[in-house]
Amino acid sequence: MAQLSDDCFAFSGPLMPVEEAERLIVERVSPVAESEDVRLSEARGRVLAADIVAPISLPPFANSAVDGYAVRHADLAREGDTRLPIMGRAAAGHAAGTGYSGGAAIRIFTGAPMPDGADTVFMQEDCRVEDGVVVLPHGLKVGANRRLAGEDVRAGSVALAEGTRLKPAQLALAAALGIDTVHVRRRLRVALFSTGDEVAEPGTPLTEARIYDANRRLLSELLIAAGADVTDLGILKDTPDSVATALAAAAGHDLIVTSGGVSTGEADHVRDAVERIGRLVFWRIALKPGRPVAMGVVGGAAFVGLPGNPVAAFVTFVRVVRPLLARLSGAKLEPLVALPVRAAFSYKKKKGRREYVRVSLSHADGVVSAQKFPREGAGVLSSLTETDGLAELPEDVTKVAPGDTIGFLPYAVLMG
Ligand code: AMP
Ligand code: MG
Repeated sequence: MAQLSDDCFAFSGPLMPVEEAERLIVERVSPVAESEDVRLSEARGRVLAADIVAPISLPPFANSAVDGYAVRHADLAREGDTRLPIMGRAAAGHAAGTGYSGGAAIRIFTGAPMPDGADTVFMQEDCRVEDGVVVLPHGLKVGANRRLAGEDVRAGSVALAEGTRLKPAQLALAAALGIDTVHVRRRLRVALFSTGDEVAEPGTPLTEARIYDANRRLLSELLIAAGADVTDLGILKDTPDSVATALAAAAGHDLIVTSGGVSTGEADHVRDAVERIGRLVFWRIALKPGRPVAMGVVGGAAFVGLPGNPVAAFVTFVRVVRPLLARLSGAKLEPLVALPVRAAFSYKKKKGRREYVRVSLSHADGVVSAQKFPREGAGVLSSLTETDGLAELPEDVTKVAPGDTIGFLPYAVLMG
């Protein structure tokens, strides 16, 4: 499990700014130490435990970027077309022939090694062939359409740094370098609970006054997408003992995530339970939807108690669990860069807290506009399925007017 000290999240302020919460996570939590070798085909989402130093250069040899004719640039006329006899053929996967010394063009195909002495390639679309002679237009620069050995990655350089999360592009780069096994940190072990007497398991009959558990599905999928091994521990009743016993039993995980039961209502036992068996620092984060979020330590596990309303659970996952997972897993935290879009709505907000508004995008006349979802409730799940992402309204903003530029975070990034 991750080794956390009891006071690692200590904060005494009334409402913790989001930035401060993220900073504390990065500062006070350390990554899991264990690492292992895994096959590239099994490595998606894993985090490199060591740099990958390129064993070869990419490309490994100079080659043609196009189908066409390879020439020695010095043979080209200063003005007008150049006519060169076609000599030989260079195809991908075949060693370049030797013996080229200029004065001719070599028929070449994409990926074929550049023949020694040739330095420039004309695209076939730009050339004309007449009786074994190729007519080359004027104006191509030396080195055009040639890929030099090592221009992508140089042998011996760090191609992928420790802390890199292996996504399709990173895996492709490792494959291109000939690597089939990577050294990665072990997966995080995350225990997941829902809480609430009203919360029922999908697939069972819905009895009076109950709702189906949406959060466990949502959070489980988000955790898996973030590369964690999730232990699904079901739904806890709203009693102090059941919550405390279950959380204590899950303390061998790196992280325990719950939803519901963290407000100040009489049936909100998660806080008390964590205080009894571990240490809780109630992070009332200056975040909407989201506040309250409970953060603490149970045994050696980090603990995050998310709010019960699904949209609040999602937003707090993004702002609290996501950076915590990145830190615990040893991954570099990729900052969430909100893209500028034009607001197509009015909105008032309180100063001093960060707000996330669910919006749909539309595109007209080169401008991307964001329209707010009409129903704001933190329990409105269709507001997540019917929109494209979150508009991020920073702490100092107090209102949004149509035409304002606002930041947009796509679900494709937040849920990926
Ligand atoms: P709580 O934070 O426990 O006060 O819950 C806030 C709201 O979220 C209540 O309306 C709960 O019924 C609802 N809720 C709690 N847990 C879940 C869940 N797992 N899935 C869907 N809704 C939930
Ligand atoms: Mg509850």
